[in-house]
Amino acid sequence: MTELSPDQQPTGGLCPHCGAPGLRRWRPFCSKRCADVDLARWLRGDYRISGEDSLSSDAGEKDS
Ligand SMILES: [Zn+2]
Repeated sequence: MTELSPDQQPTGGLCPHCGAPGLRRWRPFCSKRCADVDLARWLRGDYRISGEDSLSSDAGEKDS
C-alpha cells in the first residue's frame, strides 16, 4: 500500500481545465500546470465577459 501525502490526495472533483481528477494541493486543479494556466488567464482578464467592454473603452476617449 502506498500512502499518499495530503497534497497528493484527490479533491473528489475534476480539474476544470483539463478534466483530470483534481488534487488537494492544486485544488481544484490537477497540477501546477493547470493552476498556472488558469491563474494566467485571470490575470490577463480573459475571464471577463467579452463584448462591449473591449470596443468602447478605447474609442470614446479621443476627444477628451
Ligand atoms: Zn488539469
